[in-house]
Amino acid sequence: MAAEGASLSDVRPDCDGIMTGIKVDQSEKAETESLEDEERKGEKRKILDVQCDQDGQTSAQGEERRLGGGTAAEEMMEGEEDEEEEEGETEQPNTDSDEVIKERVQKTKLFVPVEPHQWPIVYSPDYNISFLGFEKLHPFDSGKWGKVYNTLKGEGMIRDETTVRPQEASDDDLLVAHTKKYINSLKWSISVAGITEVPPVAFLPNFIVQRKVLRPLRLQTGGTILAAKLAMERGWAINIGGGFHHCSSKRGGGFCAYADITLALRFLFTLGLVHKAMILDLDAHQGNGHERDFMQQRDSVYILDVYNRHIYPRDGYAKRGISRKVEVNYFIADEEYMTLVASNLEAALNEFVPDILIYNAGTDSLEGDPLGALSISAQGIMKRDMMVFEFARDRKKPIPILMVTSGGYQRNNAEIIAASIRNLWRRKLVTCPEAEEFQAKMAPVSTTPSSQQPSTSQAGATTPSTTEETNANETSQGRGFFSSLRSLCK
Ligand SMILES: [Zn+2]
Repeated sequence: MAAEGASLSDVRPDCDGIMTGIKVDQSEKAETESLEDEERKGEKRKILDVQCDQDGQTSAQGEERRLGGGTAAEEMMEGEEDEEEEEGETEQPNTDSDEVIKERVQKTKLFVPVEPHQWPIVYSPDYNISFLGFEKLHPFDSGKWGKVYNTLKGEGMIRDETTVRPQEASDDDLLVAHTKKYINSLKWSISVAGITEVPPVAFLPNFIVQRKVLRPLRLQTGGTILAAKLAMERGWAINIGGGFHHCSSKRGGGFCAYADITLALRFLFTLGLVHKAMILDLDAHQGNGHERDFMQQRDSVYILDVYNRHIYPRDGYAKRGISRKVEVNYFIADEEYMTLVASNLEAALNEFVPDILIYNAGTDSLEGDPLGALSISAQGIMKRDMMVFEFARDRKKPIPILMVTSGGYQRNNAEIIAASIRNLWRRKLVTCPEAEEFQAKMAPVSTTPSSQQPSTSQAGATTPSTTEETNANETSQGRGFFSSLRSLCK
């Protein structure tokens, strides 16, 4: 996910000119003890063993690069140590009793009724952040989610009536995983500025930050929690949003303000719907948030994380939460990447049979992404998603799968995510006959722009038309910071 530097000042170009986020806050960096060094070395040996076990040739190549066979940029990075940040002394874990957590889960309003004719696809136009010219201040396309939805709608796969609208996660919902201290910290705009990596946010009144920045993220978080339950009921679900994998229950970062994956699993565990879960994190960045949260629960939560080893967050402490770690180098391309994902996913599912697979399907692995710095083609992304769904669904006892969209920072990401979801549909890896039947009886989606429906241009591109979507579009056109601020003050 995310712009994924601790703050803008922490982001620096490497020798290839790629912006690489490196956390440099020395006050938070714990002393690396010799015991931890030993553990880390042992961990590295274990990774190599794991890969060798599964695919000797691929891992042998990987080992060669790790030993210095990479590019000049890689070699320069070799000397850098991962962060081995320990738990801060002032941080307190969420000490609420199981009973209190259970009460919060039972009282939630997130689990809205879902009709049989609705796809287990969750989205709200309010996911999109149309605010302060985010596009100019941040590499993240804050209207990406609306573009994915509109494309799927324009193509006739879904309609407003057949998709599920989530509720915003309340404080009580968030406290199922988050600490009160962390939630309270978001009442300071400066904290949110650090998490979202948009410094001007620090100067805004917090009520504006809550409404314009955090509410969309709380909605997406509610969407992930709801979609997780839907996946258990329907066999699959997609939240067109979420995947805030750098946020743990105690700390946000890298544009991730809420730990939606942790929360979704805590809800499912508390409801007794699952006992064992697997997180497959294929965003280009390490998923240090959920890794920190489930570090003590490796028996029940298995994490398979494939990420660029050279970029943010390089969270050595969080790596202890990973069951199967696949660290890749800059600009890995389709063939090698796909082999690594397939062999490790197969091995993971041989080792551990989960009740649910949470798939963090970040697209910042796409070639050209300024932050992910990998080289996977658009076809490769589609093939990857298809392969993951096949692994989960084409088996004797299919594993319920929840996909969240996570990071991806280029203008064409939305189009590729939509194409990939459509591909899953065409290949019947995601189905909802009731929704298709319902849609067949309805008038086709109008091609004339209206206040409620999208239009499709001759070229097939979808034009946003709802107010929210238009706002997202305005953002993508780069509405300036000060004009946005003026409009807020009106
Ligand atoms: Zn990412």
